[in-house]
Amino acid sequence: MSTQHDLIVIGAGPGGYVAAIRAAQLGLNVACIEKESALGGTCLRVGCIPSKALLESSELFEQTSGHFAERGIKLKGVELDLPQMLEQKDSTVTSLTQGVAGLFKKNKITRYEGHAQLQGGGKVVVKKGRDETIELAGTHILIATGSVPATIPNVKIDGDRVVSSTEALTFEKVPETLAVIGAGAIGLEMGTVWRRLGSKVTVLEYLDRILPGMDGELAKQALKVFKSQGLNFQLGVKVTGVKPGKKDCEISIEGQSSIKAERVLVAVGRKPNTQNLGLDTANIETDARGFIPVNDHYQTTAKGVYAIGDVIGGAMLAHKAEEEGIACVERIATGYGHVNYNAIPAIVYTSPEVASVGKTEEQLQEAGVKYKKGSFPFAANGRARAIGHTGGMVKILADEKTDRILGAHILGPHAGDLIAELAVAIEFHASAEDVARASHAHPTLAEAIKEAALAVDKRTIHI
Ligand code: FAD
Repeated sequence: MSTQHDLIVIGAGPGGYVAAIRAAQLGLNVACIEKESALGGTCLRVGCIPSKALLESSELFEQTSGHFAERGIKLKGVELDLPQMLEQKDSTVTSLTQGVAGLFKKNKITRYEGHAQLQGGGKVVVKKGRDETIELAGTHILIATGSVPATIPNVKIDGDRVVSSTEALTFEKVPETLAVIGAGAIGLEMGTVWRRLGSKVTVLEYLDRILPGMDGELAKQALKVFKSQGLNFQLGVKVTGVKPGKKDCEISIEGQSSIKAERVLVAVGRKPNTQNLGLDTANIETDARGFIPVNDHYQTTAKGVYAIGDVIGGAMLAHKAEEEGIACVERIATGYGHVNYNAIPAIVYTSPEVASVGKTEEQLQEAGVKYKKGSFPFAANGRARAIGHTGGMVKILADEKTDRILGAHILGPHAGDLIAELAVAIEFHASAEDVARASHAHPTLAEAIKEAALAVDKRTIHI
């Protein structure tokens, strides 16, 4: 006999657990199956949250080891206590994953711990350990199984010397040298953490630029800043293999001599997590890269089975997964639900942060869209000067005729928080003039946004 639910969610990452809560709010009888003992998925356990905890701690360490003196604060005997730093990260993760468990209880979501496998015909089997099996039946099934680290040919992640981001969050000792393959968000964030803690970090990137997909002008500026902070870069290089040795790993690079590093972090992207999920049995197709294709309502090729989040591809971001989860279950329960993919911000939590929403200049040029551009440097912003973070700028791209904001890009202090205003502006179809006319408190970093919006019409006040 199988237990019946209105909705069975497979995976309790930000896509799955948020979808489960929203569905429960809408009155559905919801079950969520998660194979890990802690809820929250990649994001809470081994992604967004632990990486941000380490970014914050390592930044504080770097500040105390140098920059505090500039502000008249003299410290003596600053020492790194790495076990405590890791402990702080772990306890942050634990408190948040337990928080999700509390939210499940509050919303009366039935939680099943174990590996879910689709059986077709609305059935799902949950396997825990060797023998324990539970059979569930769902009117609707939502796949939110997320993603796992990918690698490149001849580079085997062994979890020790050659690692993914998961292990790079738990190094027990600061590696003397660290090679990071991939100059995307994860590679730069983790590279920055270990550089701040004392590692000599070299980032190897196949493309001739960093932060693929983000605005080119900002990526160029960011590269200069990261280099000045001590990150080494080799751009336009193809890693052809990694051989872990006794002391060091040997990293072969096409057309040049190999380099050595104590540890290698493979940060070349992530692949869909559909292992032993029973997709074939349930007649669910995947694309050439293994992602599950869905229609506008997140329906897969099997009736009554939906998919959202990293497992369907697109931007691999927690908040994108959340929006999709909510849109999917709202559609199931009410008939409506949509995601505006143009208003989903992307952030790199380095210092300075890099944040982006909407179209980049490159995308607008490629699409032949005529646009106006306004930018404003943080060097001319009073608050940025007061806090001593004057690098970077805000850039706003608006339609040449209608003035509607098409994209916004920020390199600078708290860029990740500042971008929210421009994401809302894009969501509300605001013009650059709308943002420029809104009062922004003084002295705030947000004034740089107002000035960039004024710059679209060539009328900045402070430059
Ligand atoms: P996931 O979070 O991957 O969750 C899927 C869940 O499904 C997992 O818990 C898994 O155990 C479970 N599961 C899989 N298969 C089964 C099965 N058969 N049965 C039962 N359970 C199953 N994104 C941001 O937006 N901001 C960031 O700052 C950020 N930082 C990141 C840093 C790192 C180091 C990493 C690795 C990722 C980061 N991300 C960030 C990306 C973000 O974590 C993902 O986009 C997000 O977690 C995707 O959510 P999801 O719900 O689709 O899948």
